Amino acid sequence: MSKPILVLNCGSSSIKYQMIDTETEEVLAKGLVQRIATGTTGTVDHEVLSGETGEFHVDQDLPNHEVALATVFKLFDEHGPDLSATVAVAHRTVHGGEKFSAPVLIDEEVVNTMKDLSPLAPLHNPAGIEGINAARKLLTDVPHVGIFDTAFFADLPAEAHTYAIDTELAKKLQIRKYGFHGTSHQFVSGEAAKLLGRDDLKQIVCHLGNGASISAVDAGHAVETSMGLTPLAGLVMGTRSGDIDPGVVAYLSRELGWDAQRIDTELNKKSGMLGLTGHTDMRDVQEAADSGDERTKVGLDVYIHRLVFYIGAYATLMGGLDAITFTAGVGENSAEIREMACERLGLFGVELDKEANATRSKSPRVISTPNSKVKVCVIPTNEELAMARQALALISK
Ligand code: AMP
Repeated sequence: MSKPILVLNCGSSSIKYQMIDTETEEVLAKGLVQRIATGTTGTVDHEVLSGETGEFHVDQDLPNHEVALATVFKLFDEHGPDLSATVAVAHRTVHGGEKFSAPVLIDEEVVNTMKDLSPLAPLHNPAGIEGINAARKLLTDVPHVGIFDTAFFADLPAEAHTYAIDTELAKKLQIRKYGFHGTSHQFVSGEAAKLLGRDDLKQIVCHLGNGASISAVDAGHAVETSMGLTPLAGLVMGTRSGDIDPGVVAYLSRELGWDAQRIDTELNKKSGMLGLTGHTDMRDVQEAADSGDERTKVGLDVYIHRLVFYIGAYATLMGGLDAITFTAGVGENSAEIREMACERLGLFGVELDKEANATRSKSPRVISTPNSKVKVCVIPTNEELAMARQALALISK
């Protein structure tokens, strides 16, 4: 019997969803809600992908997540698939703090704990809680499962997750490295192990999307990752700075009188590739670099420098390296970025197969030569499928 799971990813003004048949892993329906509680007309796009397929669009005021989800569920009722067959709802939740290191069945206590964690992710957790509350109200008879973006990194060794600040202060405010994109790193590292037929791999996963992070995974366990207390740390991203000297924050405040909010906006929304080159999308960055724009070339060099810097460090921390995997928008699609990075990794015995690298595909694949000491892979991430699998495992226990 098919066991459909509804996967929800609620942002402050949007909801992404997929209904996945966990027996066949087929996507039965997917959709996107936009402009919730923005004072403008909201939109819902619902796509039915199994049985009688079709695309449906609704324009409507969506004052809150409950109205938004009720509108989605009405589309399920009218056009399918059958929502009453759903065996669980899986909710993406960004910050699990130190409390959640695995998927959890959501009850009142879990929701309250998530509220307590909101100061750690003020932009993300409140929206997740709104979505959870609305879905629990509308779908009362199914288990709701919370899946945390930080969970895969909950067991990082202390030396990896501890910041060198006053230990009492760190404890009081729960300041430590949490890491994010955990669902993707866990899924992709698991798929790489399957692809290469080994579960003892020392591997590095490069999740290069608009947000970007990198992890070191030794025999299935995460041992390092680049994002920190927040998703601002680490690699150069579309609009986020990644690592900078923390002294820059106080310097900006002293010199320009900027408050915390202004500095947060600068480093999260106006930095990264946007700050360096004027472009967020890597395709535009590459086009500008190819046409000889010097500023963009330097931006691209900074991006690759940081990426290679982390790969070298992580190989050293693991005491070896068997595989590097690229995933997410840039990692899956940009042969140029992969080549620029791999060119600098000869020291580790990385040998890229240029033809395999340039071949476009949606399938998991190896793009290094048979002689390459370190295997290089491209594996499309699929956070929704990973969440559905995790939710099914929890409710089947
Ligand atoms: P994600 O956050 O994983 O959805 O990735 C989105 C990003 O992927 C975009 O902002 C682009 O920078 C990048 N991207 C998508 N397609 C390509 C492509 N063909 N070449 C280079 N970058 C791409």
